[in-house]
Amino acid sequence: MYDDNNIFAKILRDEIPNKTVLEDSSVLAFDDINPQAPVHSLVIPKNKYVSLNDFAEKATDTEIANLVRATVKVAYEKGVKDNGYRLIVNIGPNSHQEVPHLHFHILGGRKLGPMLAKKHRELE
Ligand code: 5GP
Repeated sequence: MYDDNNIFAKILRDEIPNKTVLEDSSVLAFDDINPQAPVHSLVIPKNKYVSLNDFAEKATDTEIANLVRATVKVAYEKGVKDNGYRLIVNIGPNSHQEVPHLHFHILGGRKLGPMLAKKHRELE
């Protein structure tokens, strides 16, 4: 079930301000409020999808293509397209997804190191 009170739903309704990087008919991209790298933007579909699972099931092919293309456009706009960047999509509880509206994290602007911490004591 989609929660209309999640923080990104509020951003989409302009109830909370955001630093927009790109907007088109089906996608909004904005900077993360708590950046984990010099570049950390979020790309979200405007329609209501809880996660990538939900999106794959219900979105139109056009929405899916738009989200992917917008993501690369944001990487270009933020200056990280050619040097490399990381895309993270958290899906569900094991991934630590905090906001239940699909979002792609774009991280870059420095060497990001290994994909996952080798050992994370807090999670053991
Ligand atoms: P998740 O853990 O769900 O994959 O990532 C949620 C992301 O949303 C986090 O990186 C967090 O910093 C970001 N975030 C949470 N609240 C806000 C907000 O009000 N504005 C913006 N721009 N980002 C937010």
